[in-house]
Amino acid sequence: MNLTSNYIGRFAPSPSGPLHFGSLVAAVASFMDARRNDGTWLLRIEDLDPPRESISAPARIIDQLNAHHLHWDGDILYQSLRQDAYSAALDRLMQSGLAYPCDCTRKNTPAVYPGTCRDKPPGTVGKPHAFRLRVDTPMISIEDHILGPQQWQLGKDMGDFIIKRKDALFAYQLAVVVDDAFQHITHVVRGADLLESTPGQIYLAGRLNLPVPHYLHFPVVLGDSGDKLSKQTHAAPVSNHDAVNNLKHSLGFLGQQVPHRATEIGKLVDEAIANWNVNAIPKRLAIAQFLRGS
Ligand SMILES: [Zn+2]
Repeated sequence: MNLTSNYIGRFAPSPSGPLHFGSLVAAVASFMDARRNDGTWLLRIEDLDPPRESISAPARIIDQLNAHHLHWDGDILYQSLRQDAYSAALDRLMQSGLAYPCDCTRKNTPAVYPGTCRDKPPGTVGKPHAFRLRVDTPMISIEDHILGPQQWQLGKDMGDFIIKRKDALFAYQLAVVVDDAFQHITHVVRGADLLESTPGQIYLAGRLNLPVPHYLHFPVVLGDSGDKLSKQTHAAPVSNHDAVNNLKHSLGFLGQQVPHRATEIGKLVDEAIANWNVNAIPKRLAIAQFLRGS
């Protein structure tokens, strides 16, 4: 692993099932961008939410990545083993008065939380309760490497958001921010379905005095029904026996020059790295799987 690299990227699947075409595209995009920049590429399994996960999925994902010659650097980080780090971050936020407990029920809470529990005296919040981050920043903006300038009014768009859930599970937002800093991630390359998570993560990183990485959001893959490919929409796992074609399809989806003549997977990956051009990625939030460019 090249720890002197000034590019450290990651692929961070949640193990709800094996990789389908949409998650393979995410692996390919983050891998290619890291390798093209002589960077490090880390693998993090986001196994934060056991009821929604499959026990066999991490091994399947690892197997699929290896079959597609998407080889990561260093050890795999499992979020299920990182609870102490998330607890420490929550403690810091609580001690600085930046987070507070909330016992509101989901049923009575609008999508943007109105701050009901913000100023409740300590000890008057019922149990079980969640923890929310106080959001006081008017504007968050980034220059996305693919989508260009993005701006959010965090308070209005998101409000005080949950960082630890009522069922005692840490929220995705907190875990991602803590782990990106822990792994020294400099570049987050992920699907545009996560674009709306970005301002909250930037804000949270600021509250924790952690660095903010660069962001690249590529279009997500839509299935025939027009929904994002996912386990919920019964997306088929990518087959290890068809790795060469799967990689070619992924590169094509990402607007890249596809090494059509390559039949050996190692050569295909090397060529794809050499050809990788982030500017060729379509500047769109989503693209139907078989209708690219339409
Ligand atoms: Zn509340």
